[in-house]
Amino acid sequence: MIDARIRAQIERNWHSVRDEVHRAAGQCNRDPDSIRLIGVTKYVDSETTRVLAEAGCTELAESRPQVLWQKAESLSIPAVRWHLIGHLQRNKVRRTLRQRPIIHSIDSERLLRAVAEEAESQNQVASILLEVNISGDAAKTGLPPMELARLLECLPTSGVRVLGLMAMAGWGTETADARRQFDQVRDLRDELQQRLGRKLPELSMGMSGDFREAIAEGATMVRIGSRLFEGVSERS
Ligand SMILES: *Cc1c(COP(=O)(O)O)cnc(C)c1O
Repeated sequence: MIDARIRAQIERNWHSVRDEVHRAAGQCNRDPDSIRLIGVTKYVDSETTRVLAEAGCTELAESRPQVLWQKAESLSIPAVRWHLIGHLQRNKVRRTLRQRPIIHSIDSERLLRAVAEEAESQNQVASILLEVNISGDAAKTGLPPMELARLLECLPTSGVRVLGLMAMAGWGTETADARRQFDQVRDLRDELQQRLGRKLPELSMGMSGDFREAIAEGATMVRIGSRLFEGVSERS
C-alpha cells in the first residue's frame, strides 16, 4: 500500500515539474502543449508508478523491456502510453511491441529491421525514434550521426514510423555543454529533414537535470525521472 504522505509528495512533484516545463516553454515562446512530459518510472515499483499515473502523468517510460511489460500488464491503465527508453534486445521485440510503446532507443539497423518485421506480423506500425550519440562518447549508446543518416536513407518501407531523434547529453555534462549538444541534435534533425525531404518532428531530449536547456533547443519530449520521485523512498 502507498501511504498518503507518499501520494501527496508524488502529486506535488508532478505539479511542480509540470509547471517548470510550462515555464521553460514560455521563456522561449513555445507552446507548452508542444512538449510531452514523460515520467521515467525505472526507480520505483508498480504501485508507486500507479500513483504517478493517477496524479495525471499518463506518459510513462521504462528503460528495461521486461519491467515495461510487467508494469504495463499489472497496471493495465488504458490512458497510459508507454515509452521504452533503454536498450532493446532483438529477442525482446515481440513482447515489447504488444504493449505498443513508443521506442526511443533504436540504435542499430539490425534492431530497426527486427522491429519493422515483427510490427508487420502483429499488424501494426511501430512508432520509433532513432537514438543518436551526439556526445561522441564511445561508452554511450546511440548511432553516430553519419550512420543515422545512412539508416534513414534505407528505412524499411513498412512496419515502422520514424517520429524523430532521441539523445542524451554525456554523463556529468555541464548544463552549458548539454545545451550545445541539444543544439547539435536539432541541427542534425533539420539537416536530415532537408536532405531526405521527410519530417522528423519529435526530439526526445532532456532529463531532470537539463530539461530546460533541451526545451530551449526544441525538445518535444522530455524524459523526467528523479525529480518526480524526490522525497519518496526509492525501491526498484
Ligand atoms: C533514467 C533515464 C532518464 C531520466 O533521468 P533522470 O535524471 O532521473 O530524470 C531519461 N532518459 C533515459 C534514457 C534514462 O535512462
